[in-house]
Amino acid sequence: MSREYITLAHGAGGKEMSELIERTIISRIKNRKVDQGVGLDERDDSATIPLGDMHVVITTDSYTVNPIFFPGGNIGKLAITGTINDLAVIGAKPLAIVDALIVEEGFPLDRLEKIIKAMIEVAEQEDIAIIGGDFKVMPKGAIDKIVITTTGIGLVKKENMILDSGLKPGDKIVVSGTIGEHGATILALQSGIDVEGELSSDCAPVTKIMEICRKIGGVHAAKDPTRGGIAMALNELARKSKVMIILEEEKIPIREEVRTYCEMLGIDPLYLACEGRVVVGVKAEKAEELVKELRKAGYEEANIIGEVKEGREGYVLMKTIVGGIRIVEMPIGEIVPRIC
Ligand code: MG
Repeated sequence: MSREYITLAHGAGGKEMSELIERTIISRIKNRKVDQGVGLDERDDSATIPLGDMHVVITTDSYTVNPIFFPGGNIGKLAITGTINDLAVIGAKPLAIVDALIVEEGFPLDRLEKIIKAMIEVAEQEDIAIIGGDFKVMPKGAIDKIVITTTGIGLVKKENMILDSGLKPGDKIVVSGTIGEHGATILALQSGIDVEGELSSDCAPVTKIMEICRKIGGVHAAKDPTRGGIAMALNELARKSKVMIILEEEKIPIREEVRTYCEMLGIDPLYLACEGRVVVGVKAEKAEELVKELRKAGYEEANIIGEVKEGREGYVLMKTIVGGIRIVEMPIGEIVPRIC
């Protein structure tokens, strides 16, 4: 038997990563949840621990984005934002964060200060406490510049919890804004293309979007489409909810710059990460109202992009602009390494 090695594709958030994690980690863990909380079986954006009629919500992520500074943010802003967003999309109110920083020997102090400042700024804007952390230095070359791990803690009432398995046939799929900007920006920078003034990451907390969702009601599922883009997020929702999703290509909001860049490099924008958007499944009769409220609140590109149907369970299909239908598969391979 030949020896297997970890590849960058194993960290890209697609099929290879899901399979590796399932095989080497998740399948071996027997104690997978606390009481009736959300645990490893759900594999949602956050896990929960029930406490009376409330659930304590927990999520953790490591950030390895390359480059660490990019138009629209830096690794620090991304770390705090991404963690807030994973708490928010399960319906929770984010309360606190603990973080761990591993920095490479020789890293410039002024750059570290910039990163920390960005972390604190987002937390303060969102009224979230940073209540603990860890700081380590590794020898030059033993780590690439800086890695940040953030763990977020929030609270949600049981009846307000939104899980990936909640989509129902008849629901409409709504996206809160244009897709693919974070992914396009990072990928361009990694390819050595200067994007200043052209592309910028959409990195931003989605707490306000989720507040609007709660106010309108009828939201059955929500996800922040990060690694693997809306293709990955919607495939996960379709699979976990045992439904089929049909998208309409012409309804999906994509900035012209992102479209141009994708065509140039032969990438599908559906697979590019967003860091400040949400895709939700909402009751059909609430969908128009939700889009209206989102647009009123400044999310002007929010749109209904598809619907949920019974039929081919776990499939995401798309009616294309030219009139055909194609399958939107789960991302495979190393689309964009170190995107977040
Ligand atoms: Mg997420």
